[in-house]
Amino acid sequence: RGTDVPLEITGLTKAYKNGHLAVADLSFRVEKGQVLGLLGPNGAGKTTTLRMLMGLIRPDSGEIRIFGHRVTPGAPVLARLGSFVEGPGFLPHLSGRDNLDLYWRATGRPAAEAHLEEALAIADLGPALDRAVRTYSQGMRQRLAIAQAMLGLPDLLVLDEPTNGLDPPQIREMREVLVRYAAAGRTVIVSSHLLAEVEQTCTHAVVMAGGRRVAAGPVADIVGSGRRLEDAFLEI
Ligand code: ATP
Repeated sequence: RGTDVPLEITGLTKAYKNGHLAVADLSFRVEKGQVLGLLGPNGAGKTTTLRMLMGLIRPDSGEIRIFGHRVTPGAPVLARLGSFVEGPGFLPHLSGRDNLDLYWRATGRPAAEAHLEEALAIADLGPALDRAVRTYSQGMRQRLAIAQAMLGLPDLLVLDEPTNGLDPPQIREMREVLVRYAAAGRTVIVSSHLLAEVEQTCTHAVVMAGGRRVAAGPVADIVGSGRRLEDAFLEI
């Protein structure tokens, strides 16, 4: 039975075959309209969590519900979930628009065409859309990848490290893209290993370290919770 809760994760646990506990008893809930940052240093378990919620790998225990529907690996990907795992390939000699056209045709999602213009408007690529992708900056490529994930305007958009490699002005643009998307009552989840990026782009955050949840709440509270947290994000 469906609910209007975009994501609810309860007791999620995953160990890899080598015995490494990547995600340990993780629980959190995301409300409609939030831009939630899944924040943690490299190896914290963010990608493993996102892969489980996309139904790509099976948790050892725990439960994931998207709009009340339980996610099970192998089941058809929920149409309401849009996802982008870092670094989709684009054909460099084709324009951004042609790449997206090709994508929705190749993935057999004609419904996505109806929303193509809206997705493009949110990603705000402007006239660059008709230029070859090889002329794009890293920030423009990321926004094109996000426009691709937005095709079909999923109610829950999941992005793995969308701000990776972006400079501060590009991160601000990304914030605007995500906030515009969520303003229509849609929900966004992004992963990041940088506190400052989550601070700039998200309304809420779940902080992970060593596979566990170490903090959760509005970004302002997380940032205000002191320097102790920052120690978890010092990169070697
Ligand atoms: P990153 O930003 O580096 O991707 P992350 O927070 O996304 O970090 P995960 O990729 O989920 O973290 O990895 C969590 C832990 O699980 C890490 O210690 C990683 O080495 C380990 N791990 C990931 N994938 C596998 C695998 N296929 N087999 C064994 N261990 C793995």
